[in-house]
Amino acid sequence: MKTWVENYIQGPPERLSVERVPVDAGPCPQCGSEDIRRYPIGCVWGARMVTKCQACLHTLEIERPQRADSWPPFRSLTYEWEPAPSERASRGAREQDKQR
Ligand SMILES: [Zn+2]
Repeated sequence: MKTWVENYIQGPPERLSVERVPVDAGPCPQCGSEDIRRYPIGCVWGARMVTKCQACLHTLEIERPQRADSWPPFRSLTYEWEPAPSERASRGAREQDKQR
């Protein structure tokens, strides 16, 4: 796991590919493939971690990245903080997409 400093101090990019980590999530409900992988994505809700079947690209799970995921790079130190009461109304949509 990276420290918070290592999320800010980074050298030039060494690779431009994403490591798709195999996970034991059982067979794909769509095609039955056992090749299920988890990896970071950027989507309409922002940075997310996705668990997808690599054979048919069926999405098994989309979740908010945890600190151990080191995604997104240069993430804010306040990324995981609860919003202040004055911000909660504007973050209503974000509370809903935590489920996504
Ligand atoms: Zn599949």
